[in-house]
Amino acid sequence: MSDSPLYSCDRVWINARLATMDTAVPALYGALDDHVIGVRSGKIAAIEPMERVAIDRLNGTVIDAGGAWITPGLIDCHTHTVYGGNRAKEIEMRLCGASYEDIARQGGGILATVRATRALDEEQLRRASLPRLRALAAEGVTTVEIKSGYGLTLADELKMLRVARRIADDAPVRISTTLLAAHTVPWEYAGRPDDYIELVCNQIIPAAAAKHLVDAVDLFCERIAFSPEQCARVFAAAQNHGLRVKAHAEQLSNQGGARLAARFSALSADHLEYLDQSGVDALAASGTVAVLLPGAFYFLREPQKPPVDLLRAAGVPIAVASDLNPGTSPLASLRLMLNMACTLFGLTPEESLAGATRHAAQALGLAENLGTLAVGKEADFLVWDIEHPAELACEFGVPRLRQRVFQGRDATV
Ligand SMILES: [Zn+2]
Repeated sequence: MSDSPLYSCDRVWINARLATMDTAVPALYGALDDHVIGVRSGKIAAIEPMERVAIDRLNGTVIDAGGAWITPGLIDCHTHTVYGGNRAKEIEMRLCGASYEDIARQGGGILATVRATRALDEEQLRRASLPRLRALAAEGVTTVEIKSGYGLTLADELKMLRVARRIADDAPVRISTTLLAAHTVPWEYAGRPDDYIELVCNQIIPAAAAKHLVDAVDLFCERIAFSPEQCARVFAAAQNHGLRVKAHAEQLSNQGGARLAARFSALSADHLEYLDQSGVDALAASGTVAVLLPGAFYFLREPQKPPVDLLRAAGVPIAVASDLNPGTSPLASLRLMLNMACTLFGLTPEESLAGATRHAAQALGLAENLGTLAVGKEADFLVWDIEHPAELACEFGVPRLRQRVFQGRDATV
């Protein structure tokens, strides 16, 4: 007992119920009742049953959780948090009958946000984006992926990535940045998508990689965006620069984007409403995470759901994210997404929580350090005033977060 690292921890939570989300713990939610979790130097250093702990020998600060549940910090693995302007008017148009594709073809949609984002300098863009990041963080998100994709020039894509990297200086949140230059064709390249793809492959990806501004490369494989052939060029360029890839795929139609992503060992394929069995099989074979984005599905009033039963049957890890963006998911709440993943897509509350913790970490290539409560992982976790973890997906709108711990320290937002 005296050898336990618990006795040299900086802080120890006792009388806790842990939803570890660790598959090594056989119970639903990886639940461990009546446990102790200890933190040292920002990492989880010990997890022990209460009965094995001599409380009077603990050296660090002792916090009595009083039977409260502790979960890993939530991870939003797909967001477009950094952007200028808003698209409320366009959403109004859509409600009056225009389709997403109609609006995109009229130069609205993503390009409207490109105009608004290019118009801001870095400080303005940071200030415009920070309230959204804080909203995510306040309800328990400790890691956020942020994509570029509203710059679409070398300078503006790098500007977005710098803002995404810097934005966390003002908030206790870990940021993972993704280059999404292949989001849509900017007006300078109208009718010349291959020339734009060349710019992405030969200038933007190399510059973002050289400046260490980017953790992964994403793209939009869709009729209104880029073809599988163009996407393959972007993936190849990313891999040449040592960057992992991911894709917006099968959102509005089946282009085979998920199969292509799997061929490049993608971290994730995201959206997937139109994914078919061959796409599911490809994701399963490559270990690629399926990221479901119920906010966009809901906002666009999509007629087709992602094939959750097929993904489950094939053992594809399923993550859930906000897709926070101005046009199709202006919803800065991962808790709401847990609820929607259950109500709209039929995930169980446990699957939805795994989707915002363990599988979200995997979708960012960070599963070694994040996503579960396990010894050696980063001490990002949440103490909740709930009676059961299912409440996190069932109830919405009531703040139940008692304590937000980031890198082992209290980090209320
Ligand atoms: Zn997206």
